[in-house]
Parts: sequence; structure tokens; C-alpha cells
Amino acid sequence: MDLSDFDRQHIWHPYTSMTDPLPTYTVESARGVRIRLSDGRELIDGMSSWWSVIHGYNHPALNEAVRGQLARVAHVMFGGFTHGPAVGLARRLVEMTPAPLDRVFFSDSGSVAVEVAIKMALQYWSATGRPGRRRLLTIRGGYHGDTLGAMSVCDPVSGMHSLFTGALPRQLFAPRPRTRFGQPLEAGDLDQLEQLLDQHQEEIAALILEPVVQGAGGMWFYSADWLAGAAQLCRAHDVLLIADEIASGFGRTGRLFACEHAGAVPDILCLGKALTGGYMSLGATLTTPRIAEGISGAGGVLMHGPTFMANPLATAVAERSMDLLLESPWQSRVRALQSQMELELARYRDHPLVADVRVLGGIGVVETTRTVPVARAQRALVEAGIWLRPFGSLIYMMPPYVIEAAELSRLTAGVGAALDTML
Ligand code: PMP
Repeated sequence: MDLSDFDRQHIWHPYTSMTDPLPTYTVESARGVRIRLSDGRELIDGMSSWWSVIHGYNHPALNEAVRGQLARVAHVMFGGFTHGPAVGLARRLVEMTPAPLDRVFFSDSGSVAVEVAIKMALQYWSATGRPGRRRLLTIRGGYHGDTLGAMSVCDPVSGMHSLFTGALPRQLFAPRPRTRFGQPLEAGDLDQLEQLLDQHQEEIAALILEPVVQGAGGMWFYSADWLAGAAQLCRAHDVLLIADEIASGFGRTGRLFACEHAGAVPDILCLGKALTGGYMSLGATLTTPRIAEGISGAGGVLMHGPTFMANPLATAVAERSMDLLLESPWQSRVRALQSQMELELARYRDHPLVADVRVLGGIGVVETTRTVPVARAQRALVEAGIWLRPFGSLIYMMPPYVIEAAELSRLTAGVGAALDTML
């Protein structure tokens, strides 16, 4: 049995059937923005492996960070121990994020970083004498991860809440912001959020949202004014704000963190994905002294502590990844990606199957009028030598920041190949 036959029969892939899975392509190696398949074909990567590989694959400095740490210690428990990479990374994150976010909890993945954020908010209120604040408020169209708590605040339709009826906490959902990014706030766009805050103030622990860019829930870019208004409403209602920057963080939207577009500072911030340059899984949840001291008042402890918390290999590579990012001209690179995608994706605006084209920072989106046939579109894209993975009615790209202009042009041209499979 060859590798892909065994894979097909025994291994689950993300969001796929075990009896009728989507096709997979076997990767042999990758370098820079090129992914080499076992049959020798080479693909230009437009996905950064789900937003994470911002510096490109097989990066010499990141490889060296892993090798250097491997020679010292690959893993050691974080209960009772600390180590250089954890402290070095926490120091960098505290410096990079706005004050007063300066308390750091490391975990295994983005979803777990969100679970930790939710637990921080719930524990904060119970420790400070408001135990009735148990529910979360969020906006439709969001995505926050696949664990049960995170899933409860994903969009109820695209997050398939119907599969888990009765098992998920029932949260409060405001409509998705209508006002697009770059636009002044449309009249009434915050009204329903405000009404929910008014009606449920004493039940709500926190508003959780993806700032400015909703990713896996629909690749929607909304107004920074909306976010600034929502942050203000949270303050006025004494509700905590949790910003999930797992996808939007580390420069992808043109600012280091998407909250900066609105000048908003959350009480709790979730990070992941590009944190390690996509080398391995690591999450971080940052909060403020107010929340940390609230939780720890009267001898309280934060009730979370995963086995691989602050794993030395992951924190060492993340430390190096943060330095690489900050030493690089990431702003001009992301600005160049934005201008080129704006120019080159504009040609699809009048295509009969295209409903919308939108670009923000290093994210380019072509929304189609109906569902893209993923397997067929992906085959056409691979034949064109590029790697994009459409979902729903979205063909989108978020390439590594180091992609060359000519390579990016191959990606934008490839959107046409995907659209042709829908004719
Ligand atoms: N939040 C957001 C905004 C995400 O995009 C994702 C992953 N797509 C997650 C949370 C979950 O992260 P992970 O897949 O690492 O658990």
C-alpha cells in the first residue's frame, strides 16, 4: 500500500469525511515559498499554511533556533521550571503588544489560547464578586477554534452548531458588522451590539471577536470605527474585550496587530499561528495586571496548565521568528503585497461568477457567487503550479511575506484557473 492509499484509509484530514475524503497531495519538502510534492512538482504557496508560515519554509535562522534548542533541551515541564526561551519570548510579546497587556500564558495552540482567554474572563468575574457573568457575547461570521468553548463563539451556521446542540454553552450573537474596512461607520451598525450589552450586561463576561478581519468564518474585513465603537461600548458596560489575533496578528493586516487600526486595547489578547513562523504549534494569551490580579486575588489561581506549556523548542523558534519579523521590512512588504493584489485581483471584478473582490494587507479575497468545487479547483491550481485552498465561496490568498512579485502574479493568475472550474 503506498503512502497516499494508507493516508486515505486511516488518517483524518481537517473537516473531511473518512469514507469520501477530499484528495490530498504528498509533500516531500519545502523551501521559501515553494512546496515540493513527492512526484517532483513544485507549488508556489499562497496559504502560508493557514496564516502561519510568514517567513517561508525551511528558513535557515528558524532551523538554527530549533537545532540550538534541541541540543539543550527539547521539552521540560513548566510546572516548577522556567527557561530562557519562555522568558525571552514573553519579554518580546510584552514589548510588541500595547500596554497594559503584560501578563502571558503559553499554551498549545490557537484554540487553547482562546479557551484560556475565556477561562481568564470567567475566573476574573467570579474572583471579583460577579459570578453571574458567565456568558460570552460575539459577532456572527467569527471563527475562534475547534474546541468546545471556542466553537461556542464561532458563527453558529458555518461553525455547524447544529451538530452539537445541547453540548455547547449558549452564547450571545450580534450581527456581523456591515461597514467595510476603510469606511466610516454606517448609522445603526453598532445598535444591536449595544442592545445586547444593555439587555444582558449582568450576564456577559466578555465580548470576543477577531479585530477587523474575520478569517475562517468568511474572510470579511470590517470597519476599524466599528471596532473602536465596540471597545468603547465594552468599557461603558464594564464588559471585558477579548481580541482573537491568532490569524490577524504579526503584520498580516498591515499593522503589527489588527487592533491598532482602531487604537483599541483589549483586556485579553490571543496569539498563535505566525508566532512560531509556522514551525510548530504554540498559543499565547496575554492580559493586563487588572485581570491577572483580579483572578489571583484571595489566593486564586488560573486553572489551566497543559503538559506542553511553553515548550522550549516552540518558544525558542517563536523568539527567533519575532526577531526576524521585527528586523525585516515587514510593513513595506505587506504594503507591496496589498498594492499588487489590489491591482491584479481587480481583473476578476466583472467576472460573471464573482460577487466581490477585497484586499487588506497581505490578504486577497475573491468571493464567488456559489460554492467553489474544492477538489476540482484544487486540481486545476496544482496543475498551474500553485497552492491555494478555496473554501465555501471564497478563493483567497495570504502568501508568506517573502514572496516575490512574479510569484505573487502566478497566484493571482491562478484564481482564474479556479474560476474556470466553476463554469
Ligand atoms: N482563532 C482564529 C482567529 C483562527 O483563525 C484560528 C485557526 N484558524 C484559531 C483561533 C484556532 O487556532 P488553532 O487552529 O491553532 O487551534
